[in-house]
Amino acid sequence: MEQERTNRNCPLWGTETCARLNMRACRGCPAEDKDARECDFIRDDIDTLYSLLPAGGIHSLFSGEECALCKGEWKRKKESYALFDMGHADPRTTKKKLSLFRNKTYGFAIPLQFGCCRDCRRRFQLIGWLPMLTTIVILGAALLVVAQEPVAQSLRNVWRGLPLVVMVLAALLSWGLGKVFTNALRARFNRHTCMDLRDHPMVQRMMSLGWETIQEGKYPQPVFTRKRLSYGVGTAVPQTAAEPEDAATPQDAAEKNMENGENLD
Ligand SMILES: [Zn+2]
Repeated sequence: MEQERTNRNCPLWGTETCARLNMRACRGCPAEDKDARECDFIRDDIDTLYSLLPAGGIHSLFSGEECALCKGEWKRKKESYALFDMGHADPRTTKKKLSLFRNKTYGFAIPLQFGCCRDCRRRFQLIGWLPMLTTIVILGAALLVVAQEPVAQSLRNVWRGLPLVVMVLAALLSWGLGKVFTNALRARFNRHTCMDLRDHPMVQRMMSLGWETIQEGKYPQPVFTRKRLSYGVGTAVPQTAAEPEDAATPQDAAEKNMENGENLD
């Protein structure tokens, strides 16, 4: 889609900062209606953010045709994107706020967009669903058994609260089994797919530069989309490495997916 950056009066128009902001249009850009001084602050922000990124940039994750999550020599063809945000404390202002408190303040946030093949996406999605599936199956089965009047009666004969205790035990069991199944399956998938995004070489490089995963929890789960985010900071492909027409805004991606009857979540 044609980018409409037409405001040549903007102090940032056509500059490297404009390319790095990578907005679809001047309208809605952070620099819209800003004077030269305010634009200098924006340039300073963007320069600081880029100084914190790995030297080669992050576009290699999404600009190629191969899956960025496949392990081993042979990578499958990408057919979607796995999105995952990382945050960095702004070294100029927020250092003091980073402490033991969980509720951290990030000066910068940037989306990592991993080109992803069908197999890798399915593995992540299965891992995401497995705990809930296990819970539904085990709790459902327990409920079916306890709801049988003869069973319920014989349990109540032992103690009035026993049917409830059985259900609580079933809930605990499904939670525990869900964890066991998920860990076992993740370890198996991990031979072919980088299931722990924190182990990915790009994420490792980012973490060594002070970036953190914004999502809490041991294994961050990416969000999958058919079309990648193509506007905004961190989504630009440098001119020298420009990719063919394969870009859309999140809205476009959602519409496109609905048209195709696809739901990747
Ligand atoms: Zn893959």
